[in-house]
Amino acid sequence: MSKIVVLGGGESGVGAALLAKHEGFDVFLSDQGQLKPEYQQSLLDAQIPFEQGAHSMDKILEAQEIIISPGIPEKSPIVKEIKQKNISLVSEIEFASRYTQAKIIAITGSNGKTTTTLLTYHLLKEAGLKVGLAGNIGHSFAKQVMEKQHEYYVLEISSFQLDRCFHFAPDVAVLLNITPDHLDRYEYQFENYIQSKFRIFQNAKTNTTCIFWSGDPVLQSHASSLPHQAQIKTISFDDSNANMLIQNDQLKGSSQFQLNLADAPLKGPHNAINMSAAILAAEAVGISAESIHLALKTFENAPHRLEPCGTWKGVQFINDSKATNVDAVFYALNSFKQPIILIIGGVDKGNEYEVLDDLVKEKVKGIICLGIDNQKLESHFGPIGTSIFSTDNLQAAVQKSIEWGQSGDIVLLSPACASFDLFKNYEDRGNQFKAMVKMLNDGK
Ligand code: ADP
Repeated sequence: MSKIVVLGGGESGVGAALLAKHEGFDVFLSDQGQLKPEYQQSLLDAQIPFEQGAHSMDKILEAQEIIISPGIPEKSPIVKEIKQKNISLVSEIEFASRYTQAKIIAITGSNGKTTTTLLTYHLLKEAGLKVGLAGNIGHSFAKQVMEKQHEYYVLEISSFQLDRCFHFAPDVAVLLNITPDHLDRYEYQFENYIQSKFRIFQNAKTNTTCIFWSGDPVLQSHASSLPHQAQIKTISFDDSNANMLIQNDQLKGSSQFQLNLADAPLKGPHNAINMSAAILAAEAVGISAESIHLALKTFENAPHRLEPCGTWKGVQFINDSKATNVDAVFYALNSFKQPIILIIGGVDKGNEYEVLDDLVKEKVKGIICLGIDNQKLESHFGPIGTSIFSTDNLQAAVQKSIEWGQSGDIVLLSPACASFDLFKNYEDRGNQFKAMVKMLNDGK
């Protein structure tokens, strides 16, 4: 019986282990940290041996194939050793896709993945399709494949998962945009990250629908890498007209879906692109315009993405804690006309802040740097001349924002950085921010 090792015992790893066992493999799971009790129980119930707190290399290197968690970097010693032995190393997505005939819509991009994935899922579900939501979001794809519940999957796919995809061939592949992110995992070479994102198209055939935003500068400069053999649908967006219609200029003007942005469930130019992508993906699997229009009316986005979270003395607070890279902040600043007090900072992932300079000069009346090490932000934005305040305390940040804020202003938490210096994760950061705004309102 051939042996499979799963590295990482989170949602995707445990799901992959269960599917591998179900498919008759001899499975072993190894995690350097501790597994959640419910995951331990699932493995025990399925009689899958596992270890936690360490990696036993002798056992791991016996595998014919290793399914690796996206959280384990390529440059880690364990990956180096596996590569030296030439053992097949795949992601949960690659592995699980071998065992399903369901139609797959896979969505990637530097920003907008979750929003677009949730909306696409919503459009398919409301149309009555048997659809699963997985990838970076929701329950394990592999586990759902094992349970054979769905005829369609909408998958949110990160570059780390794509790095370990080789034959994965979604029926609909969406690439929203490519801007610098996670460069610490790509030897600080943007080109490596770009190549990783393009892997979403690597197995596109003539009947694959490939959707991308034609205005993305990186996609334009890498036009020769686009899957010209596939059914290409591009999204173009002109934000010069606030009341514009989304027009999906599909191949030479075939059917066009039109949506008045004033009635759309999501605001801002970036969300027009996300909505277009989701609509095109839904159309690609045969959903009618009528059904899409109906479903759009009931869509609610996930929290922490430009989420309005209260007003105090006329100052509006926006929680955009999920903005963990510079591009997301760029779009956040672009989504408001009012003066902005920007709360930014955290763990810098090799950010370059220059692209924000013009917007900061035009719209930002004060910058609050929130992190343990704010030096890079201070030295970048200091010379621009906007007021700067630096702190490692969220309460002090909110306090300063209300000191600076006047009726009609926006206080925008849009950090451009990861949250791990001061918070558990971006959700924790956003929730603490929201709680503090609520306290202001409660007069505490
Ligand atoms: P992801 O899953 O790719 O991180 P999200 O939908 O969770 O994307 O959004 C993350 C952040 O990026 C939020 O701050 C959001 O406002 C912003 N954002 C969403 N869509 C886009 C887009 N198409 N371009 C740039 N920024 C975006």
